[in-house]
Amino acid sequence: MPEQSPLALEPIRARAEAATPGPWMAWREYHGPVTAWRICTHDGNREVVAGDEGAIESGDDAEFIAHARSDVPALVGEVERLRGRMREARALLPAADPNCVCCWCLATRRIGEAIAPAAGEGLA
Ligand SMILES: [Zn+2]
Repeated sequence: MPEQSPLALEPIRARAEAATPGPWMAWREYHGPVTAWRICTHDGNREVVAGDEGAIESGDDAEFIAHARSDVPALVGEVERLRGRMREARALLPAADPNCVCCWCLATRRIGEAIAPAAGEGLA
């Protein structure tokens, strides 16, 4: 299986920081027999998804969008924390001879290669 390249966090963080500050909440509106969901800031002072064209029909979708405002920054922070732990783990690995084929050097190199993407190494 090809190795997946590390996720670039900066564009994700920039989009999250540019969006209307959170937290957001899903707000249910009843229009006769029709239920529509809107997304607004938690204090209710600002609608993020507003207007009839922006109404969301699925409560699950509305909850997902509203929670994404807080979940995305939390996930970015967790990835950064875990990458930091991986860099710490990699720094603890003893240096292996790159040309040696003994079990210890092979295993140490394999561990280092496995940790590198999880540590966010290889990002442009
Ligand atoms: Zn060796």
